[in-house]
Amino acid sequence: MKVTEHIKKAKGKTLFSFEILPPVKGESVQNIFDAIDPLMEFKPPFIDVTYHREEYVYKKRENGLLEKVSTRKRPGTVGICAAIINKYGVDAVPHIICGGFSKEETENALIDLDFLGIDNVLVLRGDAIRSEGRFEADPQGHSYASELLGQVLDLNNGEYLHEEVKRNKTNFCIGVAGYPEKHFEAPSLKSDLKYLKMKVDMGADYIVTQMFFDNQKYFDFVDKCRANGIDVPIIPGLKPITTLKQMNVLPSIFHVDLPDDLVDALEGCKDNKAAREVGVEWAIQQSKELKEAGVPCLHYYTMSKSSVTKRIAETLF
Ligand code: FAD
Repeated sequence: MKVTEHIKKAKGKTLFSFEILPPVKGESVQNIFDAIDPLMEFKPPFIDVTYHREEYVYKKRENGLLEKVSTRKRPGTVGICAAIINKYGVDAVPHIICGGFSKEETENALIDLDFLGIDNVLVLRGDAIRSEGRFEADPQGHSYASELLGQVLDLNNGEYLHEEVKRNKTNFCIGVAGYPEKHFEAPSLKSDLKYLKMKVDMGADYIVTQMFFDNQKYFDFVDKCRANGIDVPIIPGLKPITTLKQMNVLPSIFHVDLPDDLVDALEGCKDNKAAREVGVEWAIQQSKELKEAGVPCLHYYTMSKSSVTKRIAETLF
């Protein structure tokens, strides 16, 4: 079932959902099941599975020289989605990205997803390869999420890359990303919203936000979206802080601000255990306020660890 149908069916009740990462290559899929099992009691209608592009690693050759090798450290997004549907009877939302894919490869991946009975995709550009400064599209691929969105919409309309007549129409419900605190490359929030609106006008069905720690930023973002004619559901994404290090790491990776009260509380923590308590309490308060405001769904970035999300969900669902 489509994410938007789940939201409609809930008739204003806030849903619970979460995102997991495929395990690091060589780890068992059981790790994923162990992360999902404790959260099933909260009846997530859908679970997102991230996609991770290739990275470069350096391997030492016999002659002592280093060889640059391209590898994907977390493969398995499609397989995990199929496993989730099979094992839990819950909808899985694979993330699909522009980076590292030609249009042909994207088309084939979408055909696989369609054949597996996957009804939803979250369409993203993807970030730069870790060792590279800025995002570079595949020469035969897409530079922006909107272009990838266009390809999914074409397939939903039965238009394949090299077929001259229309063929089987896929029926993907399409989510896109939104940034309450602006995407870090965008020159202004106004400019970022222009491209977000473009994605929605093209046919994106819903938006999932980047994590934020100040609900007012989400509320202001939703107001601005509505004022700009963006009328699809906007699902807030929440990341509970679980370590002291995240106080600095999250802003540097995700380009988000932490409110002073949260920083003060974290700075007063003597270890990660104390920081986790602060993080959980903060996420509970954020979640309660968002739920009271009637958000369609609370979507948690679990990093494939369930204990913290479970504690938060227990107080809300
Ligand atoms: P876009 O919508 O393409 O926007 C990228 C930038 O370009 C923005 O600054 C935008 O304003 C600008 N822009 C957009 N269109 C145009 C245009 N036509 N001309 C000029 N400028 C334009 N990354 C992964 O690799 N894997 C994941 O699984 C993943 N999951 C995510 C889930 C969520 C909910 C979020 C919020 C992010 C996720 N990301 C993931 C990160 C995402 O790929 C990055 O944030 C990426 O830098 C931007 O992706 P986007 O889809 O927002 O890009």
